[in-house]
Amino acid sequence: MDQQYRTSLQFLYFYILNQGDSKMKKKQWQQQLDKEKKPVLLVTAHPDDEAMFFLPTITYLNDNNYEAHLICLSNGNANKIGKIREAELEKCCKYLSINKVTIINDEQLQDSMSVMWPIEKIQKIVEEYIAENNIKGVITFDNKGISGHLNHIACYKAISSMKRPEGLKVFALETTNILRKYSSILDFFVSSILNDNLMVNLNILKAWRSMQIHHSQFVWYRKLFVVFSRYAYINTLIKI
Ligand SMILES: [Zn+2]
Repeated sequence: MDQQYRTSLQFLYFYILNQGDSKMKKKQWQQQLDKEKKPVLLVTAHPDDEAMFFLPTITYLNDNNYEAHLICLSNGNANKIGKIREAELEKCCKYLSINKVTIINDEQLQDSMSVMWPIEKIQKIVEEYIAENNIKGVITFDNKGISGHLNHIACYKAISSMKRPEGLKVFALETTNILRKYSSILDFFVSSILNDNLMVNLNILKAWRSMQIHHSQFVWYRKLFVVFSRYAYINTLIKI
């Protein structure tokens, strides 16, 4: 364990040092790289999922020359403020440099903790989007949906069993136990040992700001979430 702990610390140190270096390289090769950007699609259920759960993944995509796309399968109209939440999501996507955002507002895909969304409907939306936008990778929730929300789990069920064009890579955001979920950046050490597909955001202000843009949702427990949630700083992905 001591050896593993040391290795994790070295990895974190290396990761921080590398940030400046990779930015320099990125600038140097920007023109060439822009021509080769690979489109990757994030599929979420509600406006604010991207900020609450996927921020390290989005940061990784931005820093590594991927073109980030987002489909949000509902406009979060559970409290009849769907239009406000749509505007918040669009603003947040601009802030997070997500290239293209699509917000679905379908009567069968409404924000609900008790209704299971029709899987075929989600698959049709996502499969068409992949074909039209030449998407090379898809990222969504895993089978536990981080918070266990039925709408998150519906994303997993649909994406994991949809038709895939050849070469498409599909990943799910790993749900951890509750202790790790609220151990903030400290979970880095466990995550780096258990999963190679590790993405890190070390910018607490970015985590705060992206949640704050979802003004209608930024209540006290979500403010605590920014500080204590591992998902503001660490994402681990599982290939599915
Ligand atoms: Zn959600």
